[in-house]
Amino acid sequence: MKIDNYNFAGKKAIVRVDFNVPLDENGKITDDTRIRGALPTLKKILEAGGSLIIMSHMGKPKGKVNPKFSLAQIKDDVAKALGRDVKFAPDCANASEAAADLKPGEVLLLENLRFYPEEEGKPVGIDKADPAYDEAKKEMKARQKDFAKKLASYADVYVNDAFGTAHRKHASTAVIADYFDADNKMLGYLMEKEVQAVDNILKDIKRPFTAIMGGSKVSTKIGIIENLMDKVDNLILCGGMTYTFAKAQGGKIGKSIVEDDKLDLALDIIKKAKEKGVNLILGTDCVAADDFSNDAKTIVCPCNDIPDGWEGLDAGPETRKSFAAAIVPSKTILWNGPAGVFEFDNFTAGSRAIAEAIVEATNNGAFSLVGGGDSVACVNKFGLADQVSYVSTGGGALLEAIEGKVLPGVAAVKG
Ligand code: AMP
Repeated sequence: MKIDNYNFAGKKAIVRVDFNVPLDENGKITDDTRIRGALPTLKKILEAGGSLIIMSHMGKPKGKVNPKFSLAQIKDDVAKALGRDVKFAPDCANASEAAADLKPGEVLLLENLRFYPEEEGKPVGIDKADPAYDEAKKEMKARQKDFAKKLASYADVYVNDAFGTAHRKHASTAVIADYFDADNKMLGYLMEKEVQAVDNILKDIKRPFTAIMGGSKVSTKIGIIENLMDKVDNLILCGGMTYTFAKAQGGKIGKSIVEDDKLDLALDIIKKAKEKGVNLILGTDCVAADDFSNDAKTIVCPCNDIPDGWEGLDAGPETRKSFAAAIVPSKTILWNGPAGVFEFDNFTAGSRAIAEAIVEATNNGAFSLVGGGDSVACVNKFGLADQVSYVSTGGGALLEAIEGKVLPGVAAVKG
């Protein structure tokens, strides 16, 4: 079913959103992007005469009640964003009465789903190596089904609008969908948009296609890097992984971040790129610092000749030019992961050069997709978020979708 074709009048809709918003030490929201992202779906249901049961996780409470991760902290913000009162159910698995009492146009927010281990469905307090683990896992999976069934019992229709967790087969993101027939489950608008953006990247690739992968480590990105090698014309690898590549090729990298157990992997990536005819672009020079801090002393030096005691924290001017030269003429662009320690204002130049080149390419007709928490933080920091084609709310989910994996949260609804 598609959300636009469903008649919500008089129906109770249970909607999985991603309200895992960052909070400061006083429990105040520091960035409400995720709440705003869910509004089109939530408002559509209310305006059509439905009532809303909103469910989400927040943080990693690991299956235990923890007030630090209580969604009660954001209830008033959700009410303000929706422009109406929001009731709160302090126990998500015991909200039958509150749900039954809802009248059209009313809203109930459930407490953090992850206060229950059943949400994630992983056995707690038992090691994978333990011989009893398999049995514990089986038992937890059965409990997960019961938990999902309970949540499903609150509503007539299920809507999944939480792209950030769509790569997880959790009770509220996938298992719950088994308790609704095909006519009463659907993706929300945000999910539809995200799935469409990934389709644009994978199905209708206008060339050249340039992928920019940054961040701190090769190890966490290797799956997507290998997969992208079959698709892209240019592959820019930047950020902390630069130094693993430099060291693998015999370079001197000072005290830069490095994964010593991934040197062979780095050489393998270089080899594969050659074999597949992919233009692999790595940093040549960097901004190195004498300390991991914003106010450190800096020098510009080759990535493979960094003095002892110094560490590469950003892309150098020559590197920034070579990145931009590949990005600007591109027609499809994917960016995930910063080119430097962008959290420090003095080490944002590499990420800024990438963002600006992407904007230029987008103005020239390219489709550009920026995803993953840190790259999104970059485009927000530079005030350029509205000048790229699409900013994804998903990190892991986006990368898995682009790797071509079927996302359980999408599959559960679409069948
Ligand atoms: P990831 O979580 O792997 O996507 O990496 C994101 C993090 O990589 C950000 O917090 C950046 O500060 C960090 N990062 C980027 N470049 C470097 C670098 N040259 N040295 C250390 N950390 C880096």
